[in-house]
Amino acid sequence: MKLLFERSREGSGCAILPPLDVPECLPSPELMRKTPLRLPQVAEVDLSRHYAALEKRAFGVNDGFYPLGSCTMKYNPKVNEQIAALPGFAKLHPLSDERDVQGAMEVYFRAGTCLAAITGMDYMTFQAAAGAHGEFLGLLLIRAYHRDRGDFARKKILVPDSAHGTNPASAAMAGFEVVSIPSTADGRVDLEALRMAAGPDTAGLMLTNPNTLGIFDENILEITRIVHAAGGLNYYDGANLNAIMGVARPGDMGFDVVHLNLHKTFSTPHGGGGPGSGAVGVKAFLADFLPRRQVRKELGGYHFVDPPKSVGAVKAFYGNFAVVVKAFAYLLSLGPDGVRQAAECAVLNANYLMHALRPGYTPAIEGMCMHEFVLSLEALKRETGVSALDVAKGMIDGGMHPPTMYFPMIVHEALMLEPTETESRQTLDWAAGVMLEILRKARENPESLHAAPVTAPVRRLDEVTAARRPVLRYPF
Ligand SMILES: *Cc1c(COP(=O)(O)O)cnc(C)c1O
Repeated sequence: MKLLFERSREGSGCAILPPLDVPECLPSPELMRKTPLRLPQVAEVDLSRHYAALEKRAFGVNDGFYPLGSCTMKYNPKVNEQIAALPGFAKLHPLSDERDVQGAMEVYFRAGTCLAAITGMDYMTFQAAAGAHGEFLGLLLIRAYHRDRGDFARKKILVPDSAHGTNPASAAMAGFEVVSIPSTADGRVDLEALRMAAGPDTAGLMLTNPNTLGIFDENILEITRIVHAAGGLNYYDGANLNAIMGVARPGDMGFDVVHLNLHKTFSTPHGGGGPGSGAVGVKAFLADFLPRRQVRKELGGYHFVDPPKSVGAVKAFYGNFAVVVKAFAYLLSLGPDGVRQAAECAVLNANYLMHALRPGYTPAIEGMCMHEFVLSLEALKRETGVSALDVAKGMIDGGMHPPTMYFPMIVHEALMLEPTETESRQTLDWAAGVMLEILRKARENPESLHAAPVTAPVRRLDEVTAARRPVLRYPF
């Protein structure tokens, strides 16, 4: 496909600015460009077609089945988009006086109340723009808590080896040293290793439960107790909340801080880098450290308050408000029973698909899964030479988005599938059929899978070169 620069033809650009009808006012010469800006010149119709063509090459939840494990690519009801787009929400200015935006503040407050009830926390804050950003904020809170108590020795964050990559990355960015805790063969935290690691230098533990293997760790109370007994705090990565919302609460499992990915669990489309929200929840003893401008309800109205020992701002103003509106609309439309039902169906669908794949595929961990499961294709690779990557590419030709591959890193030849609650039984049956057909091909004609995908706009990409030596500038 041609780039816009390659479509550019001198003189074919479309002038969209009307002639100047006010006195010209140029910036001072040192601020002026030395050379003219090199913009592509294309007619409006060609510009429009260019973006439409790009859009057709993308694959989203609205195009088909998208079982990308850990990412919760579920259908987001359109009504929530419409509500967030109402002018009273969409056209607000962040510098408005609080008396003029009481409705928006009510959304923040009531969304926070709902999510605090779902997670078992006391306060929620919405400033962080993504899950990893929420992790970073949560870790700043943990650091501020220890320092406030005069405890400067706690420099280590314990992270299980099944964790999402953002966990150790956020801990390192917040200035902590990361200590990896091994998993047992059945995918749980190794309690003995945790006991050995927890001590006076432990700032906290970061954990997601269910974990990235799709396993709920039944030892969770003992895990959080060990960390608390050592003087550390427990951080819950709530990106996997879709499995347990309305059923079990991180606050009851012994966690002190959580983040939620509103853009995974609570009705904001994601994947294209659009606005997200890493809502962070805390127990009351951490409230004094929250970012500035928290919404509180008092004297019949909503007010902003600045917590006395705030860690400061992690983003301008109040975070991505529209994402919070969508989450609140979603929560109101589901209600408490609906929230629970969504989680139950997510778990049911994952178990259904895992079972339907049984005739050929082996789960990395035996037993029931939660909202996602991990397959190990190690034996298939050994027997046929067909790898997890080949199967994933074959799935593209089969008409679905590939699952998460080679993650978590503790499973060899891993494929991680999360069907979500919004897929029908028909879709799950169809997907199992596609995957079992791929297996048949792997045994009869492995070459055909090494060559996949053949129906996509591009074939196999050189991912290593793309990551190591990306071409980020257009060579004119
Ligand atoms: C997606 C995800 C994150 C990170 O969230 P982002 O919004 O992508 O930054 C963290 N942990 C887990 C388990 C996730 O699935």
